[in-house]
Amino acid sequence: METPTKRIALVTGANKGIGFEIARQIGRTGVTVLVGARNKAAGEEAAATLVAEGIDARVAAIDVADYASIEAAAATITSGFGRLDILVNNAGINDPSDGPAPTARLDAVERVLRTNFLGALAVTQAMLPLLRKSKAPRIVNVSSGLGSLTQNADPAYPYAAAKFIGYSASKAALNMLTVQLAYLLRDTAIKVNSADPGYTATDLNGHRGTQTIPEGAAEAIRLALLTDDGPTGTYSDRKGIVPW
Ligand code: NAP
Repeated sequence: METPTKRIALVTGANKGIGFEIARQIGRTGVTVLVGARNKAAGEEAAATLVAEGIDARVAAIDVADYASIEAAAATITSGFGRLDILVNNAGINDPSDGPAPTARLDAVERVLRTNFLGALAVTQAMLPLLRKSKAPRIVNVSSGLGSLTQNADPAYPYAAAKFIGYSASKAALNMLTVQLAYLLRDTAIKVNSADPGYTATDLNGHRGTQTIPEGAAEAIRLALLTDDGPTGTYSDRKGIVPW
């Protein structure tokens, strides 16, 4: 086992998009980053890009929809480092057969919930013993404004017409994970927060998002690097607090 002096971060779904940028910018601060990827080759390519930029990056093979792969990754991190300082639950999907509640395909809703909510829950459960060994542990759940019940209930919300029951429910459930974990861990050093990237041009939306990837990654990075006086149990985007 290495005896790491540097902090260790795991970012799920970090082989591309917002997760890759989160890994890159956390890595630039001197943190060792574990590039979570379900596709090993894609993960190795992403980690090699970061290493070429001078970042201490390693691949962590994790398919968040495959609980055995999560357990295996936790075992590898345990034997390799003995602790984890930062967990960013970023991996997420949408599904072309998800959609408005009256017509969304149930199998699609199930797939989205399994990855975006159950995946994050499973990774968090598996990594919590490692996070408890850190002096300043941080958990960031990469949510979405589409997961806000308040915004969904507001007809004037700019994305009010974007009704994807599986995706929005998965992110609302992820926010519940943030709230409940923050409560349960309130007497520890662990801080748990939800980040809303905002509408960002990535593969997830055919690059129709209006923000750049660094803009989309900014809030999750801020929350991952919070100092000890930072908040826990919050939901925010790069402009400020988002209503639950
Ligand atoms: P993206 O470019 O499609 O990246 C998604 C990442 O998640 C990819 O690395 C993907 O891996 C990974 N992933 C998907 N399913 C996985 C699984 N079962 N196990 C492990 N990794 C998995 O999308 P993105 O826009 O960067 O999305 C990142 C996060 O931001 C997501 O949680 C998304 O919901 C959230 N978000 C995005 C926007 C936006 O406008 N882009 C807005 C709000 C929230 P593969 O390469 O193998 O598919």
